[in-house]
Amino acid sequence: MLDIKVLGSGSSGNCYIVGDGQSRLLLDAGLPIRQIQTGCDYKVNEVAGCLVTHKHKDHSKAVRDLARRGVKVYGTQEMRENGLPITVLKRQAQDLTSIGVGTFNVRPFMALHDCECYGYLIHSLVTNDKLIYLTDSARIPYRFKGVDYWMIEANYSLKILDEKVADGMDETRANRVINTHMSIEKLLTYFQGFDHLPAREIHLIHLSNDNSDADAFQRQVEAVTGVPVYIA
Ligand SMILES: [Zn+2]
Ligand SMILES: [Zn+2]
Repeated sequence: MLDIKVLGSGSSGNCYIVGDGQSRLLLDAGLPIRQIQTGCDYKVNEVAGCLVTHKHKDHSKAVRDLARRGVKVYGTQEMRENGLPITVLKRQAQDLTSIGVGTFNVRPFMALHDCECYGYLIHSLVTNDKLIYLTDSARIPYRFKGVDYWMIEANYSLKILDEKVADGMDETRANRVINTHMSIEKLLTYFQGFDHLPAREIHLIHLSNDNSDADAFQRQVEAVTGVPVYIA
């Protein structure tokens, strides 16, 4: 079993802690360092590492503070070019190399956002659980098999967004959301593509304040997958 703790989710800041009983990982660092420290019971220096998805502030705010406290932070080439103190996961052709972080094996893959953005397939060598962490992505690039825990973006509902545009929302803004984030409709279609989803938990993350409906999203994903769904 993995232990998943949400410190923050959405455009106001993303940060999660995943533990397997032996080591803990931070997923994204988009909160003030004080909040992250409190979330880690003031043992932030004991985390095995921090995996950051991309350069946007709601995911990278505390990168420098973490590095200063001795935490190894992993991220994209682009973040490094922007001067952030991170370890870059080198590209090998299309895919990225897998790395060991504490008791986890981590394989990054390319997400689809408006900047270089990674998703992570995380495998605990202690519990043998697999976890997908994917946010700020308009697509899911693979049919991932044997995943026990999904932490995946359900940013908006296309239906809600269409209603907003009909009510006068700027269409360019709506299209930006569509091209850079995950809709509940796309996520449901993806999960419907599995005959059986042998997962323990699904965590829906990075919900938009304006364009989502948490209760409906939870019900819909549970209905399609039969897996317990949590809203971050
Ligand atoms: Zn974001
Ligand atoms: Zn972003």
